[in-house]
This record gives sequence, structure tokens and C-alpha cells, in this order.
Amino acid sequence: MPRPIRATISAGALAHNLRIARTHAGRARIWAVIKANAYGHGLERAARALGAADGFAVLDFAEAERLRRAGVTQPILMLEGIFTATDVPLLNEYALTPVIHHPRQIELLGALARPVDVYFKVNSGMNRLGFTTANAQAGYQALRAHPRVNTVTLMTHFADADGATGVSAQLERFAALTEAFSGPRSLANSAALVRFPETHADWVRPGIMLYGCSPFADRSAEALGLKPAMTLASEIIATQELARGEGVGYGLGYRAEREMRIGVVACGYADGYPRHAGAGTPVLVNARRTRVVGRVSMDMITVDLSDMPQAGVGAPVTLWGEGLSADEVAAAAGTLSYELLCAAAPRVPVVEVR
Ligand SMILES: *Cc1c(COP(=O)(O)O)cnc(C)c1O
Repeated sequence: MPRPIRATISAGALAHNLRIARTHAGRARIWAVIKANAYGHGLERAARALGAADGFAVLDFAEAERLRRAGVTQPILMLEGIFTATDVPLLNEYALTPVIHHPRQIELLGALARPVDVYFKVNSGMNRLGFTTANAQAGYQALRAHPRVNTVTLMTHFADADGATGVSAQLERFAALTEAFSGPRSLANSAALVRFPETHADWVRPGIMLYGCSPFADRSAEALGLKPAMTLASEIIATQELARGEGVGYGLGYRAEREMRIGVVACGYADGYPRHAGAGTPVLVNARRTRVVGRVSMDMITVDLSDMPQAGVGAPVTLWGEGLSADEVAAAAGTLSYELLCAAAPRVPVVEVR
């Protein structure tokens, strides 16, 4: 018998979420962001299910190559551009669109054999990647004058589109930095796409919403009409009866406050379950909510079955996904759904469903 854990990926949910993104995007075109193995959903699988996207955005050249080998014909945006000189011929070979965020990358483009489109990234306040007032003019002119650069699209990224700061200061800075430049524009991640229509411009770049999670702490994915694309599920593999005061799991940090019945689930941090999920983190057993108790270990977690006498060995468990949002589990574990989805481990078998 295989270990009962599995990740079910719904191609239909991915396609549905892309349609939701499309209703927000209006006339803007959509880069489906499928970096990090499509946030854990599988690169080729996600590209297939999101085949109606106008383009795909990734980070690694190996990911871009895999997409081309899988027959992807849409444009592919390299979100961090080129890293070394060996990447330059790959831009031509796989017809990739690099983000250019640093003068060093413009120097490297000298080795291009044939023209490419590029994204010119400006730093409008996030202070991670991008040209600033000091070098944006020179960088933009160098790209426009470059004999092997076709379209230059102007781009920035928001630091707090989902939070209290919003986008207005960065929008203003972006406008000032690019006012003398012409070309299409791309600004919005999922949060900006949903919340700030003024950021839509020519191309939007949703990621997390395509996977059915909410970019916002205070708005659920369900309220946004999104469907979870990944369900991590397993089963109860053992039960224990605890007397009041007895501990459970490593460190015995959790103590039974009364007589308790405990279920042991075949899922641990080596499967991608967050180790910091404390007692109280929600989990579904037999489609009913209960909670994690005791420390998450490498291969197992323990859950409270005290009020579920009928839940025994073999009872189905949902860690997140259908019926229990990854956003909620992540919040209880002090992290984000992004991290949970990306962490789904290679040892977890994947089942693709329509
Ligand atoms: C990851 C990424 C996105 C997608 O962000 P979400 O919050 O997942 O929608 C968009 N743009 C850039 C530059 C990114 O790196």
C-alpha cells in the first residue's frame, strides 16, 4: 500500500481562475506567472491548463526551455532576466523576453545574434530590482538604440498592493520615471489586478490568484470567486487515547486538557506541511473541521478526534485545498499560501483531475 498522501491538482480550477483574472483584466493581456514550478502545481501541467493565457512568466532558463519543449508558443517573460553571458543565446534559441533591471544586463545583450523584445524594469519604490532616476534615462536610451532590441515594455512591481500602503505612491513614481519613455506598460500582480484597475495598463502579471488563493489577508479566495487548484490530502493512519495531562508528539509541548482521542495523519514537514503550524491549525477529517495538536514532525501530524468518534484509521484528511483554504492554514501557521503551495514536496504523488 502506498502512503496515503497525495496532491490533487485541478486543471479546471486553474482554467477557471484564469477566466476570473480575465474578467478583472479587461483589455489588458495576461502573463500567467508560473515561476517556482507553477507555485508547486507543476510547470507543464499549469501551462496546459492555463493555455488561454497570452504569455507565461518564469524565472529559470530551465523552466523556459521546458515550456518550449512542451510546445508552448506564447511569449515567455524571464522575470529576473539574464544572469550570465551563457543565458544570452538562449534568449534567441527559445524566443524569450527578458526583464532588464540592471545596466550589467544591457552590456550582456551585446552578444545577441537576433532581435528580442525586452521588459525595462524601473524601481518605483519596492527597492529590490530596477532602474532608478539615476540611471533609467541612460538604460532606456541604450535599449532603444540597441540594434537587437525590438519592443521595450516598461515595467514595475508593487511592494504592498495587498496592504495598507496600496499603490498610489509607486504609481506616481512609475509615471514620473517613465514619462519621457514610450512603449507598452506592465505593473499589476494579482493584488493590484483585483484591487486597482488603474494599474492594468497593457499587460498584467497574476500569479497566486490563478492557483485559487487570495492575495489579500482580509478577502477570502472564495469571496473573489476563485477555486483552489491544489488539494493536499491524506488519511488517518493511527489513533491514540490520551488521559488528561498526557503530551503528544516531540517535546510533549501539547498536553491534553481532558481525555482526548488523537488521530495520526500521514503528512509532515517533509511533505511540505508547515512545521510552524501550531495547535489549533485547522484540518478536515471526514470533511469536518478539527485542529492540529502537538508538534508537526517530519512525516506525521497529530489531530484532535475527540469529537469525532467515528473517524478511525483510513478516515480521509484534507490539509488544504477543497473545503479548507490554504490561506487559512497559512495564516494559522504564520505564513502565506504562496509558501505552502511552493513547498509541496517532490515525494508527494500528484494526481491531476479535470
Ligand atoms: C511573482 C511575481 C508576480 C506574481 O505575483 P502574485 O502576487 O503571485 O500575483 C508578478 N510580477 C512579478 C515581477 C513577480 O515576481
